[in-house]
Amino acid sequence: MSSGSDRQPFAGRAAIAEHLRLYSELGIEGVSRDAAWRHRDEADLPDPIETPLVGAPSPDAASEPAPPSDQTRDLAGLRAHIGDCTRCKLHKLGRRQVVFGVGNPNADLMFVGEAPGADEDIQGEPFVGRAGQLLTRIIEGGLGMKRSDVYIANVIKCRPPGNRNPEPDEVATCEPFLAEQIDLIKPRVIVALGTHAAHALLKTDAPISRLRGRVHDFRGGAKLIPTFHPAFLLRSPERKRDVWEDMKKVRALLDAASD
Ligand code: URA
Repeated sequence: MSSGSDRQPFAGRAAIAEHLRLYSELGIEGVSRDAAWRHRDEADLPDPIETPLVGAPSPDAASEPAPPSDQTRDLAGLRAHIGDCTRCKLHKLGRRQVVFGVGNPNADLMFVGEAPGADEDIQGEPFVGRAGQLLTRIIEGGLGMKRSDVYIANVIKCRPPGNRNPEPDEVATCEPFLAEQIDLIKPRVIVALGTHAAHALLKTDAPISRLRGRVHDFRGGAKLIPTFHPAFLLRSPERKRDVWEDMKKVRALLDAASD
């Protein structure tokens, strides 16, 4: 007979604890045994929305393909093409390295942030600082995926000094590389993290609070879901619930695409 002390710990306990911790952080209090709670049908799938954006500089830009280039037939080629970039002023303003992107080159799901911060500039990988750790928990705990299943990149690839917002000339110089990354990876779903990513990808200046919560059509049949940036969530944890709602839409779109 085995005593309580030599029983192996239940392997899933840590994972369940992590889920519950994330749920509680997201503002989800308790679960229901009601079967309707678990039921999902077509009607629950978010309707894609064309982006009729007031004040959009170019409503068609989200459907413009990136310019083709012989050098950039794959991500490694694109990375080599970017090189130790000096195309915009950020190379003179203290950035250590180009932070290209990380993850599965065939990912169905891609996250796009704004620009590398201090930790990313040191490590050469997007979203590795505090905001990045929260993003990883959203991917793992919220979506039930591994960080390595998705692809993560930023609109601009170099750290702006003092983590200031990217300037329009920096975005204009760098965003074609993001467009090429997207065209090479061909994700089914793109999550734009925060205002700058949503504005760059949707070519709008509408506030993120109006853009999020909706599914936008993106070129190539992809769907784009803007949500709050993890750094904003660290400052405003009460908005995690909104991000949780957005991730449910992401999950539904991915599940529908793989049916
Ligand atoms: N914030 C971003 O937008 N991107 C990163 O890579 C890190 C923090």
